[in-house]
Amino acid sequence: MKVFTQGLSVALLLGLGFSAHAHAQKHVHGEGELLIAQEGNVLQMQFIIPAADALGFEHQAANSSDKNAINVLAQQLKNSSHAIDIKGQCILQSTENSLAHGHSEHDEHDHHNVEATYNFNCKTPVMGFSVTLFNLMPSLNALNVQWISNTGQGSTEVTRSNPVISWQS
Ligand SMILES: [Zn+2]
Repeated sequence: MKVFTQGLSVALLLGLGFSAHAHAQKHVHGEGELLIAQEGNVLQMQFIIPAADALGFEHQAANSSDKNAINVLAQQLKNSSHAIDIKGQCILQSTENSLAHGHSEHDEHDHHNVEATYNFNCKTPVMGFSVTLFNLMPSLNALNVQWISNTGQGSTEVTRSNPVISWQS
């Protein structure tokens, strides 16, 4: 059985055809992105959310209240159930988010994204997903979803009122 490290996992996402997302990428507040890659038992998900929706601000943490908001969200995002509900038996292997690194290196840009990546190992076929992140982030309204799986690829949009992605084929 292959063991994927964090570094290889990112390579898998990129290797499957997703372009690297620059932090400076223009974004629309209220709209995020979700990239899903599945290869064998390995399922990876990457959320890219405007910081305005994730945190309520995009400036550098200016005071203890900002820093507290970052710490709270960083902890919440570690629990994958705050982001996604997977229709399948998948065990979270690892997760990371950009909040842990701070965003001091991106301060030349006006817009910031918060990124969270989850690596799962799935024991059953995945039938779909329901995005729970909308519950955590009240101003987030939609996610553009792209996926590449064992059986093909596609894209869709999920919204606060319709957060379900179906993989039944
Ligand atoms: Zn912005």
